[in-house]
Amino acid sequence: MILRKAYKFRLVPTAQQRLAMAQFAGCNRFVWNKAFAQMKAALEKKEKVERYNCIAKWLPEWKEQEDTNFLRLAPSQTMQQTLKDLDRAFSDFFGKKKGMPKFKKKDKHDSFRYPQGFKFEANKVFLPKIGWVTFRRSRKIKGTPKNVTVSKRAGEWYFAVQVEDELEEPKHQNKDSAVGIDMGIAQFATLSNGNILEPHHSYRRNEQELAKIQRSLARKKKGSNNRKKQVWKLAKLHKRIADARLDYLHKATTWITKNHGKVVLEDLKVANMSKSAKGTVENPGRNVSAKSGLNKSILDQGWYMFRRQLGYKLSWLGGELIVINPKNTSRRCQSCGHVSADNRKTQAIFVCVSCGHKDHADLNAAKNILTVGQTGLACGSNPSKGASKQEPLRKRKVGQPAISEYQPSM
Ligand SMILES: [Zn+2]
Repeated sequence: MILRKAYKFRLVPTAQQRLAMAQFAGCNRFVWNKAFAQMKAALEKKEKVERYNCIAKWLPEWKEQEDTNFLRLAPSQTMQQTLKDLDRAFSDFFGKKKGMPKFKKKDKHDSFRYPQGFKFEANKVFLPKIGWVTFRRSRKIKGTPKNVTVSKRAGEWYFAVQVEDELEEPKHQNKDSAVGIDMGIAQFATLSNGNILEPHHSYRRNEQELAKIQRSLARKKKGSNNRKKQVWKLAKLHKRIADARLDYLHKATTWITKNHGKVVLEDLKVANMSKSAKGTVENPGRNVSAKSGLNKSILDQGWYMFRRQLGYKLSWLGGELIVINPKNTSRRCQSCGHVSADNRKTQAIFVCVSCGHKDHADLNAAKNILTVGQTGLACGSNPSKGASKQEPLRKRKVGQPAISEYQPSM
């Protein structure tokens, strides 16, 4: 098995190296934005959107043109990588895996990637056209380096090296333990064994402080030192929010993947959910404000990252992530298989109109998700057969939420 992993370190560049990094990041951002503008314009005019083979040819042309010949400064290989990333972003967009790519902003998207030409020595990394840069080597790099990404966050430069390492096929220590997970707003995740992960509203929690800084920023004069200070504060807060969220997600996914060799999730297309709530001019989305609130929570809680982490951590440990069609998982009775929208009395309570079975609604859904993942049956397509393979259900009083047994393990 090939293990892909990334190690991230903080760079300690000289003033000259910082300048070069800022320039290269700027060139790469420019290339992304210029190519993206052309692709977006073609899309809006319903013309053919050119793909990598073609857009890669734009780069040498831009380097020749007088107004864009500053692009010669940056290493070509990094800009080719940027165009490849843009091409992949369009593939994801066309494949409905992600939303439309976006323009990159200064100080927010400062990065570039080398696919080759870099090397390491003790606590120094060699970056083409920059030279040897010192970094804080906090751990050993294991495996064959594949590429190096240099990026800036809240004023500091970092680099991440992606490696490939050949490993023996791992065997999961809890390979027979399977769990279904229902993703939600009130509860971030409800596991079919009754465990609950509380939502981590890292964004919401900091929303007031964020609003305060933004208001104060709006009052500051452009170009003033006070404004710069506020911009800096804002970047720091954004970083704190993102770090807290990532930390929470890592703890949660480590805990789940260690304990369960098989994890079943619903295939919820986050990008699509955001899109449908906005609606179109002809057909404005219903409950737009309510739904965009919901979407904010979805994005806030990082469902996408959660799923990604579960996927790669399970593959490291020899487990398996199963993604199922979400159809009827929240409306089907786990006890008798009856499917009805009326089963869902409220957001939290499930009472079957056919057999009277009562359960916490998220828990009922999580159990259905597990059943579908284990039997391969779509919910409601053959409910009696699907249900018979289930363990006997533990009775739960309606409205009594499962006790959170979440124990961070790292
Ligand atoms: Zn029932």
